Amino acid sequence: MNSSIRNALTVDVEDYFQVSAFRDQVSPDDWPQFESRVIANTRRVLEVFDDAGAIATFFVLGWVAERHPQLVREIAARGHEIACHGYSHQLIYGQSQTVFGEETRRAKQLLEDQAQVAVNGYRAASFSITEASRWALDVLAASGFEYDSSMYPVRHDVYGTAVQASGPHRIIAPNGKSLIEFPMTTRTVFGMTVPVSGGGYFRLYPYGLSRHLLNKVNQDSEPFVFYMHPWEIDPQQPRIRTSLKSSLRHYTNLDRFEGKLRTLLRDFSFTSMANVIGEYPIAGQ
Ligand SMILES: [Zn+2]
Repeated sequence: MNSSIRNALTVDVEDYFQVSAFRDQVSPDDWPQFESRVIANTRRVLEVFDDAGAIATFFVLGWVAERHPQLVREIAARGHEIACHGYSHQLIYGQSQTVFGEETRRAKQLLEDQAQVAVNGYRAASFSITEASRWALDVLAASGFEYDSSMYPVRHDVYGTAVQASGPHRIIAPNGKSLIEFPMTTRTVFGMTVPVSGGGYFRLYPYGLSRHLLNKVNQDSEPFVFYMHPWEIDPQQPRIRTSLKSSLRHYTNLDRFEGKLRTLLRDFSFTSMANVIGEYPIAGQ
C-alpha cells in the first residue's frame, strides 16, 4: 500500500427514504411520514471513523440539517469537514437554474449558521451534474463554493459525465469562473471504465477487488474519493417496495458494509476532501 497518499473520505448525509433509487415510490411530500434514522446512523459512522482515527467530509442535505440542527454541530465538533449536499435531493438536470440557485444558497447558509464555519464543498444528489446540467457549476462558483465533487465519469442511467481528468483538478464553469472538481474515481480494466469510488459498487464488489483497484489509484500517485451514506451502515432500515434494480442497488450487502468499511479504513490513509485538495498539486492552476 502507498501510505503516503491520503484519500478523501466522504459521507452523503441523507435518510434512507430520500435516495434517488426510490424517487418513483417516495415523493418529498411523504418524507416527514417516514421514521428518521439519519441521526443514529450518522453517529454510528462517526464511531467507526473515530475508531480508525479518520477525518472525513460530510456532505449534509439541507432538508436533514434543518430538522436535526444538532447533527451538523456534532459532526463539526468531532473535527470533520462540513460540506453541502444541496437542499432537496432532486436531480440537478431536472431543476431550473433559479430553483437550484435558491435552494443551494439556502442549504449553504443553513449549514454555515449551524457549524459556524465556511462551507466550501458541494456534491449534487446522485452525482447529477452532467453535460446537461453543467450550468450548475456557474451557480456553485457564484455562490462561493471552492470545490465540487458531483461528477461520476461512468455510464449509468442516472449520472455520468465526460470528465477527462481524474483526481482533483481545476475546471472552468460555462460563465468563465473556475472551481476545483474532484470527480468520483474510476479505473480502466480490460478497456472498460470501472467505478471504484464506493457506495453500491463497494458493497457489490468483493473487498479484495475494491482494495486492488483503489491500490492501483494510489500507485498512480493519485488520491481517490470514497463515498458512502449513513443508511448503508443500517441493515435494519425499513424496506421500501421498489423495482428489482433499485432494490438491488440499495439493499445488496448492507449487512457486510460496516465490516468492509473498517477494513478499508485500516488499509488506506484517509482525510477530508479539503485536506486532500490542499495537499495535492492541482492541475490547471
Ligand atoms: Zn445523496
